[in-house]
Amino acid sequence: MEEKKIDQTEEHLDPRDHRVLGRELDLFTFSDTVGKGLPLWTPRGATFRRELEKFVVETEIEWGYQHVYTPDIAKIDLYKKSGHYPYYKDTMYAPIQIDEEEFMLRPMTCPHHFELFLSKPRSYKELPMRIAEIAKLYRYELSGVLSGLTRVRSFCLADAHIICADEDQAKTEIAHAIDLIEYMAGVFGLKMGKDFSYRLSLGDRNDKKKYFDDDKSWDKSEGILREVLNERKSKFVEAEGEAAFYGPKIDIQMKKINGVEETAFTVQYDFVMPTRFDLKFTASDGTEKLPLVIHRSSIGAIERIAAFLLEHFNGALPLWLSPYQVAVLPISEKTLEYSEKIVKELKAQGIRVELNTEADSLGKKIRNAEASKVPYMLIIGEKEVKSEQVSVRARGQKDLGAMTLADFAKKIIKEDKEKSL
Ligand SMILES: [Zn+2]
Repeated sequence: MEEKKIDQTEEHLDPRDHRVLGRELDLFTFSDTVGKGLPLWTPRGATFRRELEKFVVETEIEWGYQHVYTPDIAKIDLYKKSGHYPYYKDTMYAPIQIDEEEFMLRPMTCPHHFELFLSKPRSYKELPMRIAEIAKLYRYELSGVLSGLTRVRSFCLADAHIICADEDQAKTEIAHAIDLIEYMAGVFGLKMGKDFSYRLSLGDRNDKKKYFDDDKSWDKSEGILREVLNERKSKFVEAEGEAAFYGPKIDIQMKKINGVEETAFTVQYDFVMPTRFDLKFTASDGTEKLPLVIHRSSIGAIERIAAFLLEHFNGALPLWLSPYQVAVLPISEKTLEYSEKIVKELKAQGIRVELNTEADSLGKKIRNAEASKVPYMLIIGEKEVKSEQVSVRARGQKDLGAMTLADFAKKIIKEDKEKSL
């Protein structure tokens, strides 16, 4: 019922709203039978998402992260051990009974990564250890607040936990995490101050129920985060009572097209979990020490950043993120065979290309390709077949003239590699 209501009101939505773009560009859909807040990605949307995820994983590995896979469910005891359970109980789904044990759909990745750390004895030489994962998470949201890809019940977080030997290392790692966030934002063409900003989210010493009771550690860790931001001369605002229960955080606030600001992702300082999980390592002097943990996300939830980017680019995604990069438009059936050959050659070079085989007029094919926001069109008439060339048209009515297929492919591969905007 709720889902139908959304459909009816969709005509009142901003045409740049990702829910409208998602339907028009055939990127994702919802089914009441599958359930509310559980997006289904179409092949086109899945390609966009896969390229996003590939970028995150490859970049993070380059930046020294180690990517892992851990399961979507875990025994309830894990969340009792982490202390998440009492704080997150209301946002977790009911336990699943398997044999004699109770399991939970995971609302966060941290405890899984800590158990990985604990799988063997650790030395200071392995630190900082940056454990990362594109992790599927599940959180309960009231059906009334579910909205497109921004408020969902199942999402994928570009998550990581950095195990640090001491405060100095933690400070360096927080700065390193922010450098990575700024680098990635730069690749998307997002500008600090305009598209995103920093917020230092603090605890509340009077609220011992919401926040772990350790005034000294709160003072110290809040000071460290403030110092990192000040040292890099980043502008930020401070917000009391917005921290995680285990420590303060730097929130990356994204400004949406409607002007609304929302926390897209965070870098958090944690002085609680290392003790709870007994995450020991052997220090250089041979003694056993407790590390510090940084929780961070580089681009936040894949669903949320996908929605943000769709709105930011008004659906005209950069070539490297586009579901299809090239549309081949044969003028008539006579040029179909040559068009098919072109598609085959481009595909062999890893270019995402689709062939329009409809019997429509060229004008209609171009209009449809423009509407699908594909970055390039190749118009194939008899002239092109004879000269063994392609006529290139860029998104937004720009005629780039004729060129050889090899030159065109080179241009696409270069743009894709450089992630040009
Ligand atoms: Zn975490």
